[in-house]
Amino acid sequence: MLTKAPRGTNDIFYPKSNLWQYLETKMRSVCSRFGYSEIMTPTFEHTELFLRGVGDTTDVVEKQMYTFTDKGDRSITLRPEGTASVARAFIERNMYANPLPVKQFYIIPCFRYEKPQAGRLREFHQFGVEVFGSQNPTIDAEIISLVHMLLSEIGLKSVTLNINSIGCPTCRKAYNEKLIAYFKEHYDTLCDTCKSRLERNPLRILDCKSPICGELAKDAPKLIDHICEECSTHFEGVKTRLDALNIPYVINPDIVRGLDYYTKTVFEFVAEDIGAQSTVCGGGRYDGLVQELGGPETPGIGFAMGIERLILTLESQGANFDVETKPDIYISSIGDAADVEAEKLVYILRGAGFYAEKDRVGRSLKAQMKYADKIGAAYTIVLGDDEVTSRSAELKNMQTGEKTGVQLDALADALKEINRGEE
Ligand code: ATP
Ligand code: MG
Repeated sequence: MLTKAPRGTNDIFYPKSNLWQYLETKMRSVCSRFGYSEIMTPTFEHTELFLRGVGDTTDVVEKQMYTFTDKGDRSITLRPEGTASVARAFIERNMYANPLPVKQFYIIPCFRYEKPQAGRLREFHQFGVEVFGSQNPTIDAEIISLVHMLLSEIGLKSVTLNINSIGCPTCRKAYNEKLIAYFKEHYDTLCDTCKSRLERNPLRILDCKSPICGELAKDAPKLIDHICEECSTHFEGVKTRLDALNIPYVINPDIVRGLDYYTKTVFEFVAEDIGAQSTVCGGGRYDGLVQELGGPETPGIGFAMGIERLILTLESQGANFDVETKPDIYISSIGDAADVEAEKLVYILRGAGFYAEKDRVGRSLKAQMKYADKIGAAYTIVLGDDEVTSRSAELKNMQTGEKTGVQLDALADALKEINRGEE
């Protein structure tokens, strides 16, 4: 137990942590170009928030939450997703008084008690955006285009964008009746969870993971064939813009999304080659959520991308990222005086913006050079008593073997000069 992390969790460390940093940098960069600011919310919330905000007939709430009673006898839940918290913050911090829409993003750990497997963890990470205060289809297209741009900049290939409209409460009411009638005919074959959902929320059955319910869902009436005129016009507005941006999509009437609060546009980016856990990103509109949580009537839309799944997909496509951190220079030394000089030099170089490294374990000169090579240092210098006295040394290019004389007191400038030359 002591040296085993809990099931479904991961340690992310070098060099993979560099890949994470790279991806997060890309996410932040794309978000800032699209005008989304970062929001940080607590890792845990009152359980009630998720019951209301995710929906108590969802798999997440019914089966997957990490809920506990704290020492003050409150029911607390580790967040299974980000939307409910951002909506809570929107209401609590009066963000609705800001110019609308309010466009925010987050990069957060989430917690769901699920059966761990590739692409399915108990602690995982999401990059997500949430927009409040626009019911315009152009914002649906904007967030989809944000994902599209991010994935293209990262170089992710073979992802399909699926879109669908699941209507509004008005059109869904009539549709629900058709759906209930359809599933009633097959009542005995439904799984127990779906039997209990049938009257309360038949739409959830379409998202059930059990193979039998999945088979039944295939032939069920499709919501997209029953949406009202307003929802249909909205959907057309989204499609027109995706077409204008040359973003390919497939209309997939089977996507309904796992959370209760979705309305109108829903979408998923699905990777073609990572097996069962292939949805890299899912999102949609949730026009009823803010009001459901006690805030003013405010439309909303967002998506969340699973970072672990994004990485799995990248890896399965053999994406090659140069994510190792290699020193610009390694300063080897022989003897005490030279070691002290090396200490000073690496400190100065680090201050000047270089990744400089020196011996930390008492290696021989030969072993130091071997180590410098192993960690991929671009340049090395060797300091002995002579170099310390003359304040000069030879700078060796580790790739070409070429050596040039440098003044120790102008080492940072010399490296800068070299970098300029290489650009
Ligand atoms: P799935 O159908 O795969 O269970 P979901 O509908 O539960 O997904 P969302 O709630 O929409 O997923 O979460 C958004 C994204 O977060 C998913 O598309 C996926 O990439 C990622 N994700 C969800 N659950 C997990 C998990 N347990 N482990 C890793 N990533 C996850
Ligand atoms: Mg799920």
